[in-house]
Amino acid sequence: MLHLSDDAITALALGAPSDRSAHLERCGACADDVSSLRRTAERVRRALAEPADPPAAVWERILREVVPHE
Ligand SMILES: [Zn+2]
Repeated sequence: MLHLSDDAITALALGAPSDRSAHLERCGACADDVSSLRRTAERVRRALAEPADPPAAVWERILREVVPHE
């Protein structure tokens, strides 16, 4: 059996329309590749959606600006 190309697997994992999706119903190996890539893509999406905490040095500078000096 001819397996899907990396490009086809990537497109399916990202939910792009593809005429290759029927192959996944017959082939566990390619279906596994698509679902593991899909999980990775989901993790990346979440990581990009959550802003990282600013480093401590940045917080210290912000606090120095905001907290009134006496
Ligand atoms: Zn396959």
